Amino acid sequence: MLDYGIAGKTAIVCASSKGLGLGCAEALASVGVNLVMCARGAELLDAEAQRLRDKTGSTIKTVACDITSEDGQAAVLDAAGQVDILVNNAGGPPPGDFRDWSRDDWIKAIDANMLTAISLIKAVLDPMIERRFGRIVNITSGAVKSPISALGLSNGARAGLTGFVAGLSRDVAQHNVTINGLLPGQFNTDRIETMIENSAKAQNLSIQEMRHVIEQRNPSKRLGEIEEFGFACAWLCAAQSGYVTGQNILIDGGNFNSTL
Ligand code: NAP
Repeated sequence: MLDYGIAGKTAIVCASSKGLGLGCAEALASVGVNLVMCARGAELLDAEAQRLRDKTGSTIKTVACDITSEDGQAAVLDAAGQVDILVNNAGGPPPGDFRDWSRDDWIKAIDANMLTAISLIKAVLDPMIERRFGRIVNITSGAVKSPISALGLSNGARAGLTGFVAGLSRDVAQHNVTINGLLPGQFNTDRIETMIENSAKAQNLSIQEMRHVIEQRNPSKRLGEIEEFGFACAWLCAAQSGYVTGQNILIDGGNFNSTL
């Protein structure tokens, strides 16, 4: 059996009671990683953590918090102690027209999708360097590569994070600390359900019709599943992935049309 070489290590997986964060948590726990999971809602978070404990035998702590707040970040770091793996994630900003966005809207998006990740990276990076092992995965968006204009807040904040870690990842590669981005296309999660509902209303289609249109637009003729996303995360975090850094890996069923 393939050994990922990270059993017994500790990961913080942010925003992980459902969706892509949960997919990453499940994949890491399945290869023996102990977890700190967080989300604002405690009930689902605790239920999913228990499901993963039962399934994998990994040690899993939960912290019900807003990861974009300083208190939330401190509580998660405190629960983890030594952090070997950090998966950054948070809810995405709302869609809209940039003419309607105030400075506060921008600050909120930048806080959630750029500065929270940078602050957690700052807290864990030097100890990772000292121990000569660290894996950092930032869940961003396919929109970093191929912008979606209605998601301007997301495009802007996530591009900022991507640009920042592009430099930092090269500074720390020599210490076996990697930093990579995972860029989801369209995955079957609650967030995408909301987007399908909004698009269906705008285009006067039923939700099923809209979902079908979106699926058919994709070369894979379907949405992605969180288990597929989690698998990519576990691969990036494997001991053997120390030579993969500074990359932004699109997982979108082939939707982004390019040769390279
Ligand atoms: P989701 O299914 O709605 O799950 C979001 C998860 O994050 C939940 O566990 C939620 O729990 C938690 N969360 C949200 N805000 C949080 C906060 N401030 N502090 C702590 N936990 C928080 O969303 P998803 O589809 O997995 O999306 C995850 C990220 O990927 C988002 O940034 C999204 O924009 C991005 N993305 C998703 C897709 C896609 O196809 N799904 C595509 C591109 C980009 P609580 O609500 O209880 O806090």
